[in-house]
Amino acid sequence: MPDLIASIELFPLAIPRDEPYLGPLEAGTQPNVHGYFVRPGNRTIYSTHDQSVLVKVTSESGVVGWGESFGVTVPDVVAQLQKQLIAPLVIGRDPHDVMVIYEDLYDALRVRGFYGGFWVDAIAGVDMALWDLRGKLTGLPVYKLLGGLRHAQIPVYVSGLPGKTKEDRAALGKRWIDRGFSALKFAAAVADEGEVAEMKAIRAAVGPDVKILVDLHWRYTALEAIQLIEKLDRYDLYLAEAPCESEDIDGQAQVARSVKTQVAIGEELRTVYEYRPRFLARCMNVIQPEMAHTGITAFWRICQMAAAFHCKVMPHATINIGIVQAASLQVSATLSNLAMHEYQHSIFDRNLQFVETSMHCANGAFSLPDGPGLGVEPKEEIFQYVVRSVL
Ligand code: MG
Repeated sequence: MPDLIASIELFPLAIPRDEPYLGPLEAGTQPNVHGYFVRPGNRTIYSTHDQSVLVKVTSESGVVGWGESFGVTVPDVVAQLQKQLIAPLVIGRDPHDVMVIYEDLYDALRVRGFYGGFWVDAIAGVDMALWDLRGKLTGLPVYKLLGGLRHAQIPVYVSGLPGKTKEDRAALGKRWIDRGFSALKFAAAVADEGEVAEMKAIRAAVGPDVKILVDLHWRYTALEAIQLIEKLDRYDLYLAEAPCESEDIDGQAQVARSVKTQVAIGEELRTVYEYRPRFLARCMNVIQPEMAHTGITAFWRICQMAAAFHCKVMPHATINIGIVQAASLQVSATLSNLAMHEYQHSIFDRNLQFVETSMHCANGAFSLPDGPGLGVEPKEEIFQYVVRSVL
């Protein structure tokens, strides 16, 4: 007899931060009463808190699977979608049917026009929890359920160099290199003297052998991006991320075919349907799927599609308490086209206190978590940060 899904519980989280993600606020920027502010450098909203939605799925025999959904803004919206729409469709089903369940959930709102955004984020955390549950029911890690281990260690690049000045940020980069890491990414949104000055300062600090990546944060037209990437490449740029606005497929493709540097996109995309036109137009050499948006099922499908277009995978790492990170490593461990994983040290290192896991990042690589399923469990301390829904 299958051990059916008995309950789904949701925990929207908001953990205060001493310093906002990506570093100190720009002069004149103030969070609003809900704790949100816009970075002028990329016109994007951020929270003063680390926010996500923790998902707990329990089987009839009491086995628990954990997942986590994207919740950088209004995590209680995602939790309400999971509570009112997803849970009733999933309770009573067999967790081993996880891929079929994913498809059924996706289908449920398609003709309502919701085939992305918050709806797919809500599916992602539940999908992740079902894979964790499957692993625990079978005694296998998720990478075995997906078809096998290819990488026991996942190489990383250090992402985000928070600091007040470009000299502070370059010095921080150098400290990471001294600790055994060999790749760094800087953020255009907080490069207050411009990307070229930032690149020059970092290259001078870290020497010629370090891979330097830049996140251009969707800021430029195609021609502006091409000119800028060529200037950055004088300091040996390894990869340029998100050069043009998300919707600008023609612009992305123009950049990718015009520069000698690798171009990466995709952290904001959630399904094979969103990736497909960009693969066909050859918009990128590298994709950056985000587990908190996709869940395991869609993440795996996107990465297989990337392989068919000879694109590498460099998974994105959003704000999360570690469940998302473990899930992303579980899939990464199986991929023939894996390049590196993003390592968000200011999120991962800090939030590791809230989970039980052997997963860690040192000497330039993530080690996979031990144990069945995802290999990570939330600790009791995290539940003090559950937010009451405002809905
Ligand atoms: Mg990015």
